[in-house]
Amino acid sequence: MLLPLPSRNLAKARVDFSADDFATLIAQKGLNLRWRQAAECPCSARTADLNLDLNFVGANEQSIDNQYNNECPVCDGKGILYHSEQSIQGVVSSAAGDYLNARFGGYHDGVINISLNPEHLPNFGDKFELLDSVMVYSQAIEDNGQNTLPLRFPIVRRTMTLAGGDVTVGVLYATFADATTNVTQAVELTEGVDFQVTNGEIEWLNKPANAGKFTFSYYAHPTYICVAFPNSVRDTHIRKKSPVDRHAPLPVRVQCKLEFLGES
Ligand SMILES: [Zn+2]
Repeated sequence: MLLPLPSRNLAKARVDFSADDFATLIAQKGLNLRWRQAAECPCSARTADLNLDLNFVGANEQSIDNQYNNECPVCDGKGILYHSEQSIQGVVSSAAGDYLNARFGGYHDGVINISLNPEHLPNFGDKFELLDSVMVYSQAIEDNGQNTLPLRFPIVRRTMTLAGGDVTVGVLYATFADATTNVTQAVELTEGVDFQVTNGEIEWLNKPANAGKFTFSYYAHPTYICVAFPNSVRDTHIRKKSPVDRHAPLPVRVQCKLEFLGES
């Protein structure tokens, strides 16, 4: 049935959101973010292209999309490409997690909220790198046989005021295992002595001989991936400085998780 409403006087009191106030908040308090937008990579092939059609695919039926191409130079077979990298601002809030149902001793992943200007409406899977923040990331990595070694994330050097004065450091701890025996050596590699950080990568000064695998604990900017849209549809009608209602998009809020939890 149709549900028409009765005639009521609804025009008296009026409270409008001020989109400008939200934009001011983001400009003043928003953190600097490097935003990369996600899109599905078009590199998947149809089963017919690969001569893999099954018997039930008849002459007039479409074959199905197969997996993404491992040789795709854009997505490397992962199926997601990132484009339009740009620097924006967003308010990061409610970084929270509830440990109630977490597995004891396991990593507990929380979510953060990011509020953005309506022009920066994100897509599922978009990446946000928090350029004002650092976290400690620990990684084991095979030797590449080169004089420089890029880690999973670019290393960020950080200045701290300690007992002996200001110290700027990117790698907190590093060691290695022997390539022949796979036994970890009781040797700590030190930034500034064994290696230095150049362009976010390890550059060896005194590379240990016969090293097979290294471990580095280092500072990196946390990168988050958009996983939910609790407030991505936020539109209102306002009448400020206008005789008639005007549609106005308001800032959007999305929830994000740390990137390294979901992708290898
Ligand atoms: Zn691809």
